[in-house]
Amino acid sequence: MSSNLAGRHVRTQTSSIIVTTVCFVVVALLLTGLMTHVVATMTRSANEIDDARANRAARAAIAAFVSRLSATTTDNAVWDDAYKAISSPSAADWAYENWGKTSEDYPLYDGAIVIGPDRSSIVSAYSKGKPFQPGAFFGQAFYRQIDTAADSVQAPVVNFIKTETGIALIASQAIQPYEEEGELPRLSVLSFYKEFNSDVLGTLSNEHELEGLHLAAAPAPGLLNTPITDMKGGVIGHLVWPSKAPGSAVYRQVYPYVAAATLILVLFLTGVLLAGVSEARRLRKLAQAAIFEANHDSLSGLLNRHGLLALLDELVVTDFSPPRLYLIDLDGFKAVNDAWGHAVGDDLIRMVSNALIACHPEVVAVARLGGDEFALVQVGTAARQEIEETILALFAEPFKIDGRTIEVGASIGAAARDGDIEPLELLRRADMALYRAKENGRGRAIEYDPELDRERQRVAELESLLKTAIGDGAIEAVFQPLVSATTGAVTGLEALARWKTATGNISPEIFIPLAERCGLIDALGGHMLKTSIEHAKNWPGLALSVNVSPVQLCNPEFAVEVISLLQELDFDPRRLTLEITEGVLMTNPDQARRSIDHLKQVGIKFALDDFGCGYASIGALRQFGFDRMKIDRSLVSALDQGSNGADVLKATISLATALQIPVTAEGIENIRQAAILREAGCDQLQGYLIGKPMSAFDISNKLQEQAA
Ligand code: C2E
Ligand code: MG
Ligand code: MG
Repeated sequence: MSSNLAGRHVRTQTSSIIVTTVCFVVVALLLTGLMTHVVATMTRSANEIDDARANRAARAAIAAFVSRLSATTTDNAVWDDAYKAISSPSAADWAYENWGKTSEDYPLYDGAIVIGPDRSSIVSAYSKGKPFQPGAFFGQAFYRQIDTAADSVQAPVVNFIKTETGIALIASQAIQPYEEEGELPRLSVLSFYKEFNSDVLGTLSNEHELEGLHLAAAPAPGLLNTPITDMKGGVIGHLVWPSKAPGSAVYRQVYPYVAAATLILVLFLTGVLLAGVSEARRLRKLAQAAIFEANHDSLSGLLNRHGLLALLDELVVTDFSPPRLYLIDLDGFKAVNDAWGHAVGDDLIRMVSNALIACHPEVVAVARLGGDEFALVQVGTAARQEIEETILALFAEPFKIDGRTIEVGASIGAAARDGDIEPLELLRRADMALYRAKENGRGRAIEYDPELDRERQRVAELESLLKTAIGDGAIEAVFQPLVSATTGAVTGLEALARWKTATGNISPEIFIPLAERCGLIDALGGHMLKTSIEHAKNWPGLALSVNVSPVQLCNPEFAVEVISLLQELDFDPRRLTLEITEGVLMTNPDQARRSIDHLKQVGIKFALDDFGCGYASIGALRQFGFDRMKIDRSLVSALDQGSNGADVLKATISLATALQIPVTAEGIENIRQAAILREAGCDQLQGYLIGKPMSAFDISNKLQEQAA
């Protein structure tokens, strides 16, 4: 998984942890809320049920009080003896004896009043055994009560009534015989009253389980109450008592447990929250690290390609000073790795990184894009040349690592972020400029130019043309004679590739490197070998030299393919010489060695081409078992420039001949050159003087002429 993906994965994990924790906390809070609601509802319901019971009990208490006095009144008023006595002249005495006297300490009533049939004359009125004035004690309400009682003979009239001292219950009924005998005259009325005092309230309270029952003028806040109304329905007081609130009592009992459970839940939730937060924090750190890793190079700590592109994406482009990107490729870094090992190579990368970061104040970012490839972003007004010179100056002095002196160079490709180009396009442009800088030689700086794109386009077109030409067999072989330096006789022919297009001939100096770069060289080389051999079969006795690209020689299949081609065409391998340039000896000496050894076993010879224009030494000639050396044309033409070229040539040739390696001189254009080289010891000559490259047809003609 890439670090970027890891970052995304960790971010997903973090959000799922946050979601889970939040869900957990919300669910727990919901449950707690529900539980609290249930407990509160149960408490309130229990209280309400008991309050309703208490209200019913209070009403029952009043009803019991009323019915008791009512029954007592009926017992005394509906009484034959009383009826008779009250109608007699001794009514007052009789009433005192039976009722007035009793009122002193009788539990069922506190006073007894007998009012005459006229409904206003007091026959007898005693309160607590003493005479009293009912009109003053009860007020006008008393006479309304008497009127009503006199009118409704059958049942007693019972009402609460306000007295001078408080509230009393008064029951009144007409005094009448037990059994009616005809129409009764207007009747006297007996009234008993009982004060609603603390004794009565105490009895009612005990009988009906109404603790704390008492009378009050108005309902007290926080207490239950039942209103007491008089005859007219007016409220004259309230029975009040405290609620028992059994729900609250139970709640108080279980409260410690509920509190403990709540505390545990709060602690648990806090724990869950803290764990969630710390896990989310840990994951966020991981994500940050993964993002950092995705955008940075681990060795140098610089941005990597991904990080650079992201930075370029975020950079604000202004017309005044657009950001400029410089790609820097180290020259000779591979050699450092090969010579000193990777640890030193790594140290060098770090040193270069630090040097690049600090090289100019306008450098806003440095990235490492690959092994020895860096990128630098400049934002500011400094000229491109100034930045390039600053970078190149870093490599002017050798680097010192563990006492070693290490020299590396740098090539630079620069591109400005003109207009609104995408970061990737900017990178491509700088890369193209860098490619050109490296092509031009080390230590160069090149700025991107649209011409580079056009050139690449032309190369791409040429590539496709070349592919078609190879496929169509349009690449032809011409042959240049190789003659004996002593006799001048043609001893061999060198095959050279020719490509004729509609717009003109294209030089092998152009299309051979192109074929090497675009992977067409094996096909082209194979085609040349086959065509040349097919022609050479017409020229028995002559050797054939064919040029082979270093890229071909590095192909492990090459030797086998050449041998099977020779067998297929029935061509004597001893007639064939393969010409190779020194490049392959440098780049891949082991594979070159294997191919050369294999082919030499079947009798094929090898010539080292273009000797003297590069670095190949005489030692390499022996080491790889070359059968021949070909002196480069540049050394031959130098003979005409009057320097000490002749001495160098002579020394080189005598060294080769001392090693018994015969030498061919190529590019001989005049007799003087031919004479010097012959004298210097070359046994074979080649050049326009002897013969230009010719078609196979022309060669055949020329050979026939010579034979004739
Ligand atoms: P080379 O193998 O060194 O071939 C000799 C080159 O020198 C040829 O150029 C030839 O035409 C030229 N030459 C010979 N004598 C003279 C002279 O007196 N004066 C001047 N000015 N030039 C002379 P050409 O044909 O353009 O080939 C250039 C190079 O291309 C060859 O150099 C060889 O390296 C490569 N090449 C040509 N054909 C092939 C091929 O089939 N395969 C491969 N791999 N390389 C080829
Ligand atoms: Mg050659
Ligand atoms: Mg050559």
